[in-house]
Amino acid sequence: MAVIGGIMVPHPPLIVPEVGRGQEILIKDTIKAYQEAAGMAAELKPDTIVVISPHAVMYADYFHVSPGKKARGDFGQFMAPQAGEEAVYDEAFVRELDRLCGEDDFPMGTEGEREKELDHGTLVPLHFIHQHYRDYKLVRIGGSGLSFAHHYRAGRYIAIAAENLGRRVFIVASGDLSHKLRGDGPYGYSVQGPEYDERIMDVMGKAEFGELLAFSESFCEKAGECGHRGFTMMAGAMDGKAVMPRRLTYEGPFGVGYGICTFRVTGDDDGRRFLETYESCRKKCFRQGRGFLYPSTGAALCGGASGPYRRCAGMLRRKSYRTR
Ligand SMILES: [Zn+2]
Repeated sequence: MAVIGGIMVPHPPLIVPEVGRGQEILIKDTIKAYQEAAGMAAELKPDTIVVISPHAVMYADYFHVSPGKKARGDFGQFMAPQAGEEAVYDEAFVRELDRLCGEDDFPMGTEGEREKELDHGTLVPLHFIHQHYRDYKLVRIGGSGLSFAHHYRAGRYIAIAAENLGRRVFIVASGDLSHKLRGDGPYGYSVQGPEYDERIMDVMGKAEFGELLAFSESFCEKAGECGHRGFTMMAGAMDGKAVMPRRLTYEGPFGVGYGICTFRVTGDDDGRRFLETYESCRKKCFRQGRGFLYPSTGAALCGGASGPYRRCAGMLRRKSYRTR
């Protein structure tokens, strides 16, 4: 077995007591679920933990993997420089990922490092994981402006590298949900905010990973989410695998959605190769002139109930259901 499981977790800095100074009590359900998720990571005893963080170095058309031997970071930016974490990078894993992507000319690798310090999207999950487990090496990957399908594909390279090296790999998809849940929240309110959160919790809670590809990019942007691409990369890392999901918690008292789900890989399942399904659907729709694509980005149009994508979304959904 290579990729053995993963978690979807948020990264509010104030969840760390030194930053929150008492405010963290308002998200105590999230804290409890985070401990449980971190406990699951520890129980699976991974050799390598891959953290996908939207706050690591991010390029429009490239997935940056952090190079080097190790890194540390702290919450100085959030007035708590005394709280920090350190981790040793899995250099062999990074090399293998670099090699695989180089061979395929896939835009992922260690070029263009700008910020060595661990970002808060990485620090928050490590804050919890380190309370349970330290016997692992880290791989840190940033998101990109590329399509959801690209992110899924990037995840598949993580799985191939894990297999080639015989590593037990655990994936942490670090991402907040909508930032637009409340008028008094940091980015105000938008109707797409709560709608996104409800949809993503449903999709992730059932591990219906094909659905991730069916969200439209403009809908996600209006919802102001930060984790969708990372969740999609994690899904790609579990491509073709049977997955046991658990939905642990959801809350958003500050106007930002925090959701936690855990995923255990339980075996193989060819019915869960979602990118193939997505791409054959896409081609078919395109041929039939149903306007499936934004020609410039290749991004899917609306996956809503009445959109032209409905039939494809339905197919992807059925693929997911089959395994439960
Ligand atoms: Zn974020």
